[in-house]
Amino acid sequence: MIEFDDACELILENTNQLGTDERLIEDAIGWVLAQDVVSPISVAPFRNSAMDGFAVKSQWLAECSANSPRAIPVGPTSFAGRPASHYAADSHALKVMTGARVPDEFDAVVPFEETDYNEDEARFFRPAVPGQHIRPPGEDIARGQKLYAGGTTLGRLDIGILATIGLRAVMTHRKPSLMIIGTGDELTDPGEEQTGDRIYDANTFTILSLVAPYCDRVDRVCNVPDIKEELQKALSSPHDVIVTSGGVSAGERDLVIDIAESCGWRRVFHKVRIKPGKPAYFAVRGKQILFGLPGNPLSAAVTCSVFLIPALKKMAGFTDYRLRPKPAAMPPEDSRKSDRKLIWPGFIREEAGRTTARFSPKKSSGALTALLGTDGLIIQDATDINSGDATVEVILWRDILKP
Ligand code: AMP
Ligand code: MG
Repeated sequence: MIEFDDACELILENTNQLGTDERLIEDAIGWVLAQDVVSPISVAPFRNSAMDGFAVKSQWLAECSANSPRAIPVGPTSFAGRPASHYAADSHALKVMTGARVPDEFDAVVPFEETDYNEDEARFFRPAVPGQHIRPPGEDIARGQKLYAGGTTLGRLDIGILATIGLRAVMTHRKPSLMIIGTGDELTDPGEEQTGDRIYDANTFTILSLVAPYCDRVDRVCNVPDIKEELQKALSSPHDVIVTSGGVSAGERDLVIDIAESCGWRRVFHKVRIKPGKPAYFAVRGKQILFGLPGNPLSAAVTCSVFLIPALKKMAGFTDYRLRPKPAAMPPEDSRKSDRKLIWPGFIREEAGRTTARFSPKKSSGALTALLGTDGLIIQDATDINSGDATVEVILWRDILKP
């Protein structure tokens, strides 16, 4: 049996960042950039109009006012993507639409609504400020500007920015492929009828949901008729990560470890001094890693959160993959007697710079609803008394489950 911190370290030591590959920008949400992104172009690329209106020389309008408007002949129209070619910049205003090129001879744009105009001429009622309503080249993004550093996780707001500088694809860290295998003769799939002593398989769905953001592909099998043969097959699969649920404790049908080791997996640890999650098992084979998570549903959820997710984040190139527990105060009557480190869901409040924590009232590692409404995990060192040292550590779900 090893300590919790040692288990966390051993997992990360045996987990390596995967390689990189190119991804289409629209498929890169939630992926980690493996390159800096430097804009190859200026945005806007050329001087253009911010309004529909008339491009003018501001000096033409210097003297005009509401009482003495200035009439100027109107030349051709410059459309976005279709600039005007023949125009008389010395005598005619140019009609320009938003996004259309404004030739260098003009230094201001006056919106249509500030003028009176017909096909032949426009009347202006006030002076124009040089530069008004003209977007200079590079107004938004300068050529050579660094927009993202490698290691940034791309979010939904970033994809348009990559598109605006003309990138079709970016280099990102690969995410692992993952195989989940649920073991247990008692399990049946949600949606099926519950018969005999069967219970629904919760764990493979818990794991599936928790790992999804960090994986490229997730396969799942559960309760196959010949578990031994299926385990052998699954444990020999080429996935980067294999996760089993159940079958790693001391029960008579707890086959996972023996079969894994007969399939070439090398044990790194089995059993951690924590509650829940004591039977957790971790093994490696070449660059692959295997997590044997306990079957009790809360144990599976907690060990998946503290062991599996940091490993997946590291593989996928996330820079902030470690758990970062923070100290919190617990009302002494709330602390629990335990001969192992408790890692239990609970309610965490931050008020006036002080963090307080209370355990979820459910005390069974089989009770998945201990998770309901909780803010994160509370870590309490083993203690043989019910109260006393009431300082614990907490990790918010928000941090565990980001991005
Ligand atoms: P095991 O670790 O296989 O001994 O299972 C411990 C407990 O967890 C038993 O009560 C199992 O029925 C239950 N269990 C195992 N696998 C699952 C699962 N996938 N979903 C829900 N409960 C499970
Ligand atoms: Mg079992």
